Amino acid sequence: MTIRAAVMPGPGLPVEIRELPEPALEPGSILLETLASEVCGTDVHLRHGRLAGVPYPIVPGHVSVGRILEAVGVDTDALGQPISVGDTVTFYDVHEVCNTCWHCLVARQPNRCPSRRVYGITYSADEGLLGGWAERIHLKPGVKVLKLPEPLTADDVIGGGCGLFTGFAAVERSGLEMGDTVVVQGAGPVGLATAALATLRGAARTILIGDPGPRLALARMLGADHTLSLTEDSIEARADVVSSLTAGRGADVVIEACGNPVALAEGFDLLRDGGTYVIAGHYTDAGTVEINPHLDINRKHADVRGQWGTDFRHVVRALEVMAKHRDRLPFAEAIGARYPLEEANSALDDVESLQVTKAIIAPGAP
Ligand SMILES: [Zn+2]
Ligand SMILES: [Zn+2]
Repeated sequence: MTIRAAVMPGPGLPVEIRELPEPALEPGSILLETLASEVCGTDVHLRHGRLAGVPYPIVPGHVSVGRILEAVGVDTDALGQPISVGDTVTFYDVHEVCNTCWHCLVARQPNRCPSRRVYGITYSADEGLLGGWAERIHLKPGVKVLKLPEPLTADDVIGGGCGLFTGFAAVERSGLEMGDTVVVQGAGPVGLATAALATLRGAARTILIGDPGPRLALARMLGADHTLSLTEDSIEARADVVSSLTAGRGADVVIEACGNPVALAEGFDLLRDGGTYVIAGHYTDAGTVEINPHLDINRKHADVRGQWGTDFRHVVRALEVMAKHRDRLPFAEAIGARYPLEEANSALDDVESLQVTKAIIAPGAP
């Protein structure tokens, strides 16, 4: 038997449907029937070849939800919850972190481990069904699988997707304190999740800067107190709003989630003296930007932090927070469209042109 997968053959080439062999399930592995897989900005970058070290051809799809068809000697999820055939699960896309190298053991930064592999990004389609844009997903032994916490559905998890986990990590990294004023730069899935979680964590004011209008409306629905447009509000007007909301001091925390280097000048400008600036949106190299070390960092006494990827704990905790506060985190409503495997190229086009905020690949969709 063969299994249909949407394969990205290489940079600049359209995604095509291929038949991949059914995986041989080794002890400790799980076979999922794919219910939904995310199409995120990273997949657009992958199509354009903007990430280094990607072993094309690949089956994209790094955040996915599936139903267990077969589990070979696995009866609990990564947290010890019993799992069995028919259960709906998601899984941590990062796999094969070694726990023995310098990065893992000394720096305690498994996100820099050289052995690290990521479903949908750094596994080749030649290695199997190791991405979500396929009818089945092969979870290798040791992949951290998670039963969805009640009452979450596949749509909740994919609607939040990796933006939810990255936003969670960025907010945590910022050290945001209750009562802080936060500026979020970017209205994509990461920016939206960042704004929602910043508010939930106790920010007194969450101000999101981005576009287009429907995403700003979504940001307000998810908990942003103020939204400012990149096109309709001038950079001076945006600075005036932040200044007036903070008695001229600037934001305690600024989180960049837009991936445009130009945003950094504005971000530093909006940050108060002694504030924290987290750069979380530059997953690919979008170029350089001029920074004034004296004004932006040194004299400002700024704390500037990068956030690379997510750890397993971010996924676990983000899902737990979402399960508790589901009514305040209606990410399922961010899903703009569902695409069968055959329409993966349209899904990528629509995400790239900002036609939809969150697109999902549903192999079972008509
Ligand atoms: Zn390691
Ligand atoms: Zn992603």
